[in-house]
Amino acid sequence: MGDETQHLVIVGGSAAGISAALALRRHGFAGRVTVVEAGDELPYERPPLSKALAGGEHAFLHAILPRQAYAEQRITLLPATRVLALDPDRRAVELDDGQTLYADRVLLATGVLARTLPVPGAELPGVLTLRDVRDARALAARLRAGGPVVVVGGGFIGLEVAAVAREAGLDVTVVETGAQPLAGPLGPVLASRVTALHERAGVRLLTSVSVTAFTGTTHVTGVRLTDGRMLPAATVVVGVGVRPDTALAEAAGVLCEDGIVVDRHCHTSVPWILAAGDATNQPHPHLPARGRIEHWDNAVQQGAVAGAVLAGVPESHTALPYFYSEQYGRTLQMYGRPAPGDEFVLRVEATNVVDPVDPAEAGGPADGGFLGFWTRAGVLIAAAGLDRPRELRAARALIERRLPVDAAALASPTTDLRALAKPSTAPGPLAARLRSRPETRPPHTAGTSIASSKEVP
Ligand SMILES: Cc1cc2nc3c(=O)[nH]c(=O)nc-3n(C[C@H](O)[C@H](O)[C@H](O)COP(=O)(O)OP(=O)(O)OC[C@H]3O[C@@H](n4cnc5c(N)ncnc54)[C@H](O)[C@@H]3O)c2cc1C
Repeated sequence: MGDETQHLVIVGGSAAGISAALALRRHGFAGRVTVVEAGDELPYERPPLSKALAGGEHAFLHAILPRQAYAEQRITLLPATRVLALDPDRRAVELDDGQTLYADRVLLATGVLARTLPVPGAELPGVLTLRDVRDARALAARLRAGGPVVVVGGGFIGLEVAAVAREAGLDVTVVETGAQPLAGPLGPVLASRVTALHERAGVRLLTSVSVTAFTGTTHVTGVRLTDGRMLPAATVVVGVGVRPDTALAEAAGVLCEDGIVVDRHCHTSVPWILAAGDATNQPHPHLPARGRIEHWDNAVQQGAVAGAVLAGVPESHTALPYFYSEQYGRTLQMYGRPAPGDEFVLRVEATNVVDPVDPAEAGGPADGGFLGFWTRAGVLIAAAGLDRPRELRAARALIERRLPVDAAALASPTTDLRALAKPSTAPGPLAARLRSRPETRPPHTAGTSIASSKEVP
């Protein structure tokens, strides 16, 4: 797209927004690209915020791109600036510094907001959520001050924080309203294997219980539970999920239903506005139904599609959903999204990975290393594994190519998944460019690609 007079405005400078800006340039867009970002930092990666809190700011604050890359790519970044309103009729983007930008198209990459608990004491100092780098700084300082720490919500972010706090030697309790943490995304079998890591590390897991109040006068000192128990707390981390940030889209007349409704090309119901990333509700071929995907990799990939489409290249977003989590030095990875009714197959193998929590358990079931698969009508739909990157690479190829698989073969530790996935397991050129595992991650000097979340080799 060689028209230099065009101006595209991207709202939100994170995984989806920056990926879109880079894709625009890759696809030859010659006009102006402006990224408006409410936060005042150079755009950064969010996944390390919950995993590297103990290592200090240099461990958890990683810029997505070096500062000079924005100039090299001719991307105008407006940090510490919030978009207040969009006017599709005037093609106007109103900023909180009083400026108005005029844009040929707008991409909304506004992400999600942390949910809070509507209970007494929720505003007390010491009751924290974790969404951005300011939250991470506040939480890191609280962890240095000591425990006890109460984590409300046994999702991935809550459990990652619990692991970091426990590794720092603090007393940690996780309060989970469901019967089992992570049962939703992982199913009961794999969820119990992950939560076993926490129990063996000494984290207290309280399930089927919720919070009625946070107590304290000038700072939180306790958490009152629905069963009447009172937990002492120096710090509370509320990790009870997120909600899509749709305020701008809704005010501009864009259809929103549990997120900004988009098609596979990132178009919304308003032709002037596209959307990508966590904020969207998308019709993804690997989801059982239209829905949201709240993972770094999806935001990078979908943002790249939005950039291509804005540059006039009709790509669609079909990349297999992927996420990872790190707890106690163990890496959980998952490809695909199972649905209720899918057949679950567990494969447990002897391993030489020594469990840091209990080295004596290495090789046995309690080692925690595992692979789990979900099949539907004889086809592999999803796979998850703890410390099993090589096998997951093969599983990814099987899922992407929708090859028929035999459940007994999947369950057997002697089956070479790579043989099942032949002839080719290589990712496409786009995926290869955007995905990189940390150990081979390119240094952030090229300025033309985004380091993805931890990827299988
Ligand atoms: C602590 C933490 C740990 C995570 N760990 C993992 C992980 O291990 N693996 C994984 O796959 N995913 C992880 N995620 C999720 C992952 O970070 C998100 O999926 C990803 O950041 C989504 O990117 P996004 O660009 O869609 O939105 P976001 O990253 O939410 O960014 C949206 C941006 O839009 C800006 N914005 C919003 N409204 C406006 C406005 N009106 N004007 C200007 N700017 C605006 C916001 O300031 C924000 O920077 C984690 C998230 C968090 C918070």
